Amino acid sequence: MTAMTDQFSGRPRYRIPFIDLKEIHRRNSTALAEAVRRVVGRQWYVLGPELEAFEREFARSLRARYCVGVASGFDALTLSLLALGLDAADEVVLPANTFIATYLAVFAAGARPVLCDVDPETHNVSVETLRRAVTRRTRVVLPVHLFGSPCPMGEIRSFARKRGLHVVEDAAQAHGAQLDGRAVGTFGDFGAFSFYPGKNLGAFGDGGAVVCRTRTHWQRLLRLRNYGFRVKNYAVSYGVNSRLDEIHSAVLRAKLPGLAAGNAVRNRHAAQYKECLGPVVACQQVLPGARSCYHAFVVRVPRRDRVLRELRRRGIEAMVHYPWPVHRQPVYRKLSGPAPELPVAERLAREVLSLPVDLHMDRARIEEVAGRVRRLAAG
Ligand SMILES: *Cc1c(COP(=O)(O)O)cnc(C)c1O
Repeated sequence: MTAMTDQFSGRPRYRIPFIDLKEIHRRNSTALAEAVRRVVGRQWYVLGPELEAFEREFARSLRARYCVGVASGFDALTLSLLALGLDAADEVVLPANTFIATYLAVFAAGARPVLCDVDPETHNVSVETLRRAVTRRTRVVLPVHLFGSPCPMGEIRSFARKRGLHVVEDAAQAHGAQLDGRAVGTFGDFGAFSFYPGKNLGAFGDGGAVVCRTRTHWQRLLRLRNYGFRVKNYAVSYGVNSRLDEIHSAVLRAKLPGLAAGNAVRNRHAAQYKECLGPVVACQQVLPGARSCYHAFVVRVPRRDRVLRELRRRGIEAMVHYPWPVHRQPVYRKLSGPAPELPVAERLAREVLSLPVDLHMDRARIEEVAGRVRRLAAG
């Protein structure tokens, strides 16, 4: 996620990076080196004891019943949907303002994605926005906890239950985020996580995990990620190769104990941003009873591209998540057809700006970023 050069100025790196992975890894270097050494010493690289231990530890940290490590966040979503056995006419409702993986995973699982709009304050789906997109063909609702901010899962669950819909949570940005004291990812039938290096919990490469609530779903996921094998070389159902490697599992085990502290730092940064930005700049709202893990701290500003350019010119690595909603990208027309009107998602794409919440920022830097954003937003 840390750009080597500023795409606008061409200058190397940023004085205030969006995320400083080098520093995160430096502070963990002993535990990380030991983790890698352990795996290499054992010479067991796939489906081994590190994966089993990580699955147990990650599940425990979320108070989830089952956890299955997979190769990416994309696969976590895809395998969750595959485990539900959808067919080509089955619809999966998801928000338009998400990372493209959420949309593409539905195709990979052989079903039909249907986009819905979102709430302008939370940037997330609500029962109202989901309801407008649900049809007789809907089988699954797929809320995304965008930037680590929890969707209203209590309401979404009762809505889904009444209509006989499954719930798959995209928690790829929401490791350790909570709603009413309960970890997101554990509300739905499945919760999908990504361990892409820039996520709040990141591996040394791609990785992902699914948490689920029933033994049946758990066993389906175990088969799906490993060629449908019940025992080696005896395939009982469809499957793919999507396993979380031992190296990544060991790295994640070394980093997991620091997740809660990292999320606490991000929350502190967010509180300081809110204080320094004042009432004029609109920040993403977090629901009452919810605790975001602030994968990003996102504000809405007029003339966003100008603000972005100015910040980056001053060495502040602000970003945009996401510059185009799913239905305004060329792939949508190719796979789904004419774009629907989803005005909130479209407005957010024009106005959102992600500010750095790197763990190693201090108050002075938050004040600097917030001060600049405030002045630039005022014109
Ligand atoms: C990162 C991300 C994914 C995909 O995860 P990968 O590990 O990159 O495949 C899916 N959904 C959202 C919201 C994400 O941020």
